[in-house]
Amino acid sequence: MQRASKTFYIETFGCQMNVHDSEKVAGTLLARGYRQVPRPEEADLVLYNTCSIRDKAEQKVFSRLGQFKKGQNGGKMFGVLGCVAQQEGARIFERAPQVGLVCGSASYRKLPQLLAQLEAGSGRVTGLELDTDEPFETEFTRRDNPFRAYLTIIEGCDKHCAYCVVPFTRGRERSRSSRQILEEARRLVDAGYSEIQLLGQNVNSYRDPSPARLTFARLLRAVAETPGIRRLRFTTSHPRDFTAEIVAAIDSHPTLCDHVHLPVQAGSDRVLARMQREYTREQYLEKIACIRSARRAISITTDLIVGFPGETEEDFAETLSLLEEVRYDAAFSFKYSPRPNTPALALDGVVPEEEKARRLAVLQEKQRQIQLEKNQALVGSAQEVLVEGRQEALQQWVGRTSQNRVLNFTVPRGSAGHSRLGTCAWARVTRAGPNSLVGEMLPAGQRQEAERLAGAT
Ligand code: SAM
Ligand code: SF4
Repeated sequence: MQRASKTFYIETFGCQMNVHDSEKVAGTLLARGYRQVPRPEEADLVLYNTCSIRDKAEQKVFSRLGQFKKGQNGGKMFGVLGCVAQQEGARIFERAPQVGLVCGSASYRKLPQLLAQLEAGSGRVTGLELDTDEPFETEFTRRDNPFRAYLTIIEGCDKHCAYCVVPFTRGRERSRSSRQILEEARRLVDAGYSEIQLLGQNVNSYRDPSPARLTFARLLRAVAETPGIRRLRFTTSHPRDFTAEIVAAIDSHPTLCDHVHLPVQAGSDRVLARMQREYTREQYLEKIACIRSARRAISITTDLIVGFPGETEEDFAETLSLLEEVRYDAAFSFKYSPRPNTPALALDGVVPEEEKARRLAVLQEKQRQIQLEKNQALVGSAQEVLVEGRQEALQQWVGRTSQNRVLNFTVPRGSAGHSRLGTCAWARVTRAGPNSLVGEMLPAGQRQEAERLAGAT
């Protein structure tokens, strides 16, 4: 068959949602008889899955495409997928005539037809519809990580934060049916995945379209009960839709990890209102108090933006005071980046780049100090990790705790030297930095004791 000899290369920019979209796109291509190759030079079809949440994402993809000029690329086909595709649309063909496929994420379900047209010689194929109720379902997904499987439960976003391009690039919210999600979770566990991570721009805005009408918290419980599942995570949660039922689900299901990612963006009510986040600092802190009232020690991480238009020195000081108040376990922080089509473009009070950079450095230093203190408080404790890597040079295994901390650990001399990848292990923390922990694996006897103590908490 002619198609069997075709090869593809895919490069992904951006978040976990994009990584997982690429896994599904790769699955769609493999199902059509394509073979994946590790370098664009070897591929018949070269795909760039793009992100435009910040910065000049378009420049990145056009510079990649510039390496392969039309007429000098041995008949390769090129495709631009994701946010830049949706944002720039058919203009991409003008700037990069070697491109044959432009497809936004809301049109991925049409990929098989679009690919068929491309293979049949249609020069320029687009999938740019945004207005869809249907999520991207694939027969087959080629997952990159052999231990942790991403599982999309909701696509798109119906919130309209003033700075954000997602509603324009990913379209309206559409949830998958709980039946399909639970079936996929069962298949993943049967295939040997230790951890499942439920994904969505706002996972907790989930609305089950099937008659079961599961709430997000009920869905969490149902997935957490999949026989054989070791760990379940979910990201990202939106503060507005965060409920006490989610905390109750974590409390009562040991397979649900002790971690909530709850982006706050800013600590000042004035900035939150201008951002159209639709919650106040106090309402956000109530959600934090709810998480902190759990029986389990749940780690809390966040996203922050500095230098949003109109952010004064006093507003910024309120973001710093929020960091002190919540003491996040980790934070992703960004300089505000003006995005096409977004309402924030019309706001006055633009903060100069140098000032944004200064605020970001101050914020990151404060957060670094908090993380260091929190991590150092764990020295001496026993932690269960899921092992996901190996650093040969340091003779360390790389694991992740339930609270989502990276813990690099050594194995005592004389312990079996087999691979531990994908298994769970107990380690005692011996050192801590701001971003990771270092430890030693516990011998069997102590491990049982640690397990007993963990079970009792
Ligand atoms: N839906 C999640 C929420 O609202 O809580 C966030 C998803 S968004 C894809 C990831 C993060 O990117 C946001 O939390 C925000 O901090 C950051 N972000 C989005 N637009 C941005 C912009 N224009 N400039 C800087 N950071 C931005
Ligand atoms: Fe963007 Fe706001 Fe939607 Fe999050 S909730 S994806 S920040 S618009």
